[in-house]
Amino acid sequence: MNKHIATNVIFFVALMCLFFLNTVHAIGWYWYAIPIFLYLLVSSIGSYFIQLNYFTHSYCSGDRNKPQIAITFDDGPNDHTAKVLDILKVEKVPATFFCIGQRIKSNESTLSRIQAEGHLIGNHSFGHKTTFPLQSSGAIAKEIQKCSEAIRSVIHKRPLLFRPPFGVTDPMVASGIKRSGMYSIGWSLRSYDTVIASSDKLLQKLNTVSNGDVILFHEAGLQTANVLSQFIKNARAKGFEIIPLDQLLGIQPYEK
Ligand SMILES: [Zn+2]
Repeated sequence: MNKHIATNVIFFVALMCLFFLNTVHAIGWYWYAIPIFLYLLVSSIGSYFIQLNYFTHSYCSGDRNKPQIAITFDDGPNDHTAKVLDILKVEKVPATFFCIGQRIKSNESTLSRIQAEGHLIGNHSFGHKTTFPLQSSGAIAKEIQKCSEAIRSVIHKRPLLFRPPFGVTDPMVASGIKRSGMYSIGWSLRSYDTVIASSDKLLQKLNTVSNGDVILFHEAGLQTANVLSQFIKNARAKGFEIIPLDQLLGIQPYEK
């Protein structure tokens, strides 16, 4: 059973117990506040941590017994993508770029280059608005399809990998992903490269990499391009092989 549905059942049973208790012995209203508070808390945690697979199953890591990892970049294509591609080319490392649909129009050549250099392209919604998870499942499915169409118009392949904006999931996002036939993709190691301003601290954070990790970067991260090469060297020195995301997760990246 889906974790969210299981929580709904537990919440319902808890409320029924309180109603019953109230009929045999009057209880204060605050007793009802306890399950409501816990329900909201559990739902919020489930929304925020995609790795919990609370509302839907997301692919967040590969085989924990193999020294293989995959790297991903979110929120492009943008002015920083070319620099990241240059580094990946020198290091001969494959990556996956989760692209925002509306950024493709002015960056078609960058998207083509990502594809031409052997990297994967995934869907990261069309607009990446903060209100994305609050839309109806139909609107979410439409937005996912709009982004996939923007990607397809350039690379002539329709992506199957979808990373929810901000990694936030809820019942509408879960249903929108299902309706659009995509795989939900999360991560297991978040670099926090949009907030860590020190390259040493960022490398320290990345040094915690372990077997099967899917690493989340952003091309426009504060120090991402500055540490990328060193990170790759460190990971290789520790015996990790950096492989394509579809291979690590064992799923198809594009529609056949
Ligand atoms: Zn994003």
